[in-house]
Amino acid sequence: MKQKQIGRQQANISGVYRKKIERSKKEEQEHGAGKKDFVVCEKCNAVYYYKSWKHGFADYKHLNQNKNIKFEICPACQMIEDKKFEGKVVFENVPNEYKEDILNNIKNTGERAYKRDPMDRIIEMKESGGNVEVTTTENQLARNIARQVERAHKGAKADIRWSKEESVARIVVRFM
Ligand SMILES: [Zn+2]
Repeated sequence: MKQKQIGRQQANISGVYRKKIERSKKEEQEHGAGKKDFVVCEKCNAVYYYKSWKHGFADYKHLNQNKNIKFEICPACQMIEDKKFEGKVVFENVPNEYKEDILNNIKNTGERAYKRDPMDRIIEMKESGGNVEVTTTENQLARNIARQVERAHKGAKADIRWSKEESVARIVVRFM
């Protein structure tokens, strides 16, 4: 189940991306430009090749040849710019004595996800009153953040709601 959702998520991102590529290919044909081998995000420097976004060129096997590089904005940066998100977790009534711990837990989960995939990121962490609100570029990441905190704190209970229209997960984690 988990694997399936991750797969679908990546398919969504690359699906959107494919459309962009198709569009730019058309433009290239019209303008007679050459084939682009890489796309580099001008905001976060993620690099697109072999059908996914990566942190750098480490896995690329033909770097010593002349390659065409195109600069664009990656889907994650685009989402942040458009003020959108795919996952939102609201931690309610976070006990003060655990707050620091929980914030670190959330950050660590976010960093691990980003290391694995540059498209998976925490967008924002907000604190207000006893609540902590986290938005992410990827719904599975929001789920993992909620689950990690739930696992570490016995009093925390997560309630996940998936939006039917969009691939957005909204999760409320309540502390009893
Ligand atoms: Zn980017």
